[in-house]
Amino acid sequence: MNENFQKLEEYLEPVQALQTALTLFQWDNETLAPEAANAQSSRMVGALSAAYLEAFLKPEIRQLLEKLTAEKDALSEKERAVVRELNRDYEQLEVIPKDEYRAFQELTMKAAVVWAKAREEDDFASFAPYLKEIVETQKRFAGYRRKEGQSLYDVLLSDYEPDFTEKDLDEFFAALREGLVPLVKEMAAKADSIPDSFLYKNYPADQQREFCEMLAYYIGFEKEKGVIAESAHPFTTNLHNKDVRITNHFYEDSLPSAMFSVIHEGGHGIYELGIADELTQTPIGGGATMAMHESQSRFYENILGRSEAFWKPLYPKLLALYPEQLAGISLEAFIKAINKSQPSLIRTEADELTYCLHIMVRYELEKLLIRGELAVEDLPRAWKDKCREYLGIAPDTDREGVLQDTHWAWGNFGYFPSYAIGSAIGAQLLCAMKKEINVDACLEASDLTAIKKYLGKNIHRYGKLYGCNELLVKTTGEKFNAHYFIEYLKEKYHRLYA
Ligand code: ZN
Repeated sequence: MNENFQKLEEYLEPVQALQTALTLFQWDNETLAPEAANAQSSRMVGALSAAYLEAFLKPEIRQLLEKLTAEKDALSEKERAVVRELNRDYEQLEVIPKDEYRAFQELTMKAAVVWAKAREEDDFASFAPYLKEIVETQKRFAGYRRKEGQSLYDVLLSDYEPDFTEKDLDEFFAALREGLVPLVKEMAAKADSIPDSFLYKNYPADQQREFCEMLAYYIGFEKEKGVIAESAHPFTTNLHNKDVRITNHFYEDSLPSAMFSVIHEGGHGIYELGIADELTQTPIGGGATMAMHESQSRFYENILGRSEAFWKPLYPKLLALYPEQLAGISLEAFIKAINKSQPSLIRTEADELTYCLHIMVRYELEKLLIRGELAVEDLPRAWKDKCREYLGIAPDTDREGVLQDTHWAWGNFGYFPSYAIGSAIGAQLLCAMKKEINVDACLEASDLTAIKKYLGKNIHRYGKLYGCNELLVKTTGEKFNAHYFIEYLKEKYHRLYA
C-alpha cells in the first residue's frame, strides 16, 4: 500500500468513528429516543458534529490529499477513488467561507421548522422569505464552486449525480414527457374500472408487522446483519456492511403502504450489506450515487415487488393472513389493484407510472428558481400550472402542492432528479439481468438468491469505487439510457390493463 495512503487511513479512523456515532444518534432519535430527549441530546449531537469537522479538516489530511493527488498514477484503483471522494468533500467545505456555511446551516434548521408549520397551516407566505434566502444562498455557494462550462444548477446537481448535467436531464425528462404523458392519460381513463378499495380496509398493525418482517428477509435482507425498527417515515441507515438498519411505518387503513415500504427500504439495505469488506468503513463504502441507491430500492419495490411472478407464491400467504379483508379477491385482481395508475397530488403516494411526472414538476421549477427566472412568490402558481400540464390535475392547497416535500427547506436543490434517474436505471438493469437470469422463474420459485447475487456482483460490492455511468457500462454495456424505462412501463401497463 502507498505510504501516504496508509498515513491517511490512520487520520481517517477517528473521523469514521465520529461519523458512526452521529449516525447512531440520528437513528436513535428517529426510532427509540423519548420525545423529551431532543433538546439535551441535540447538544451532544452538536458537540460530536464539531469534533467530526475538526477531525476531518485537519491540515495533515489536507497535506496528505495534496501529495496523493500529485502521485495519483501510482495509486491503486481503490486509493484513487478514496482520494477523489475526499477531494470532493474538501473542495465543498473549503471554497465556502466558514461564517457563510454556518449561517446557512442555521438558516436551514430554522427553515425546516417554519416549513413544517407552514405545511400544517397551508401558509406558503410564512415560508417564502426563508425559501428566498435559501435559494439566494445556494446560488451564491454554487457560484463559488462553479467550474468552466457549468451552470449553477449543474454544480448543485453534481453533489448528488456527478455524471449528469442539466443538459442530460433536459433530454431525459423530454424523453419521459414524450413517452409517458400519453400513457398516463390512457391509463387514467381506465382507472375507475379497477377496484382497489379492498386494499384500504382495516389491516391490524400486528399482522402487518409480522408479514412485513417476513417480506424483508424473503427478498434478501439479512437477519444477522440487519435490523428493522419503526419510525414516522421509513428510511435506511448503515454503519457498515455488517450493520444495516431499516425502518417501517404501519397504517391500519392501508395494506400496500408498509409492504412496499419494507421492500423499498430492504432494497436500499441489501445494497449496503453487499458492499465489499475492503471498502466498507472507508469514504467509498456507501452506494455509488443517490440515483444508483434509489435504483436498487425501486427495483425491488416496483419491478420485482409489484410483479405477478413475485406474488404468485406469496399471495396465498397474504390471503391466509387476511381471509376476510381479501375474501373473493383473485391474484389477478390484487396485482391490478397494487399497480393501479391514476394522477395524484402527493409524490410519495404516487404509483410507478406517474411518479416521474412529480419529479419533472420539481425539476422544472427548481431549475427556474436557480436561474433566477422564477420568483419564490410565484412558485405556488407555477406549481399548479406544471401539475396541470403533466398530471392533468392541480392541488387546491399549497399543503398538497408546493409545501409537500421537505427537500427545499433543507436547501437540497438538485436532489429530486435522482429519484427519476434511479427509477429508470432499474429498468436498464432488468434488461441486462434478463440475459443471464430467468427473473420470473426465480420469483415464482420463491428464490431471489440469483437476483441478489447478480446485483451484488455487478453493483453492490463496488460501493463508490465507480460512478453511475461506469457501473452501467460495465453491467449493461452502455451508459444511462431512458429508453429501457419507457419501454418497460409501456409493456407493463399495456399488458396489465389490456
Ligand atoms: Zn429510497
